[in-house]
Amino acid sequence: MIKVGIPRALLYYQYYPMWKTFFEELGAEVVVSSPTTQTMLSSGSSRVVADTCLPVKIFLGHVLSLVEKCDYIFIPAIRSVKRKAYNCSKFLGLPDMTKAVIPESPPILDIEIDVNKGKRHLYQAIYKLGQRFTWNPFRVKQASIAAWQAHLKYRQLMSSQGLTPPQAIAKMTGEVEPKTPTSTQATIALIGHPYILYDEHISHRLIHRLEQAHYKVLTPEMLTTEELESATATLVGKAHWTYEDEVVGAGGYYLESGADGVIGVMTFGCGPDSLMMDTVHRWASRLRITPFMSLTLEEHTAEAGVVTRLEAFLDMIHRRKRRRVEVCV
Ligand code: SF4
Repeated sequence: MIKVGIPRALLYYQYYPMWKTFFEELGAEVVVSSPTTQTMLSSGSSRVVADTCLPVKIFLGHVLSLVEKCDYIFIPAIRSVKRKAYNCSKFLGLPDMTKAVIPESPPILDIEIDVNKGKRHLYQAIYKLGQRFTWNPFRVKQASIAAWQAHLKYRQLMSSQGLTPPQAIAKMTGEVEPKTPTSTQATIALIGHPYILYDEHISHRLIHRLEQAHYKVLTPEMLTTEELESATATLVGKAHWTYEDEVVGAGGYYLESGADGVIGVMTFGCGPDSLMMDTVHRWASRLRITPFMSLTLEEHTAEAGVVTRLEAFLDMIHRRKRRRVEVCV
């Protein structure tokens, strides 16, 4: 059986159930890299210039960890999934960059996704990818339909049941779901890209820390597409970046929806995020309803620094809540 490797990084958290279903329907076995480790980060960093963003370095580390384990590696070039909104340049050139810096990689299965080029272009790209496994266009079509159904189910699990991507993936693949402690303290919304929030190595286990301390954690995936798009429209009118909703939309929504605090998480060296996070920051200052903190993480960020900032932010939220109770009394 042909083995297709999928790096557990970047768009894995958005699309894994869809990709897995597509390849399995075509008779392939899917191999996913292990969760990020420092060794992966160091190996990925060694292949690119220092100012490459942290998530891309980590992605390359995941590709390196799959080199001996699969026949192909799946790396799509996702340019756009929305009309007139484009992705960060790193995503556009991901297959080519990987080929250039990891020449020992197994052959790369790349596909260009750009909805601005029309449906015909999209269908042709999917069929071309499917042809690596079968010449029967009907089988490719069936696999695409099953993959899309899996994606819709995945999104629905997250927005209607309040699951994070790792929890929804565990539920769909039959793995044991991590138990979430019952929340008692306050509600904290985290905004940012899934490949930052759910990669425990990059985020220094932010979600886990909050949940263990009995905070209820909300993330962008727990909102519906309509809620995200409407909040993005309120803040910036029209989204210009493909994944703007998970930062600007989620930030705008949670700042007004009763969360006790909002934390924006981004990585150093990211142009799009610095603009989007600044938009949310300005909106928070204008509304003055919900405290907002932004955390910029990088390769050398010390865990102690993250914990100190988190504790200070949570203390401030508790003081604020106590003051409100005293005023009401
Ligand atoms: S959006 Fe930012 S963090 Fe994400 S790949 Fe692009 S530069 Fe890197």
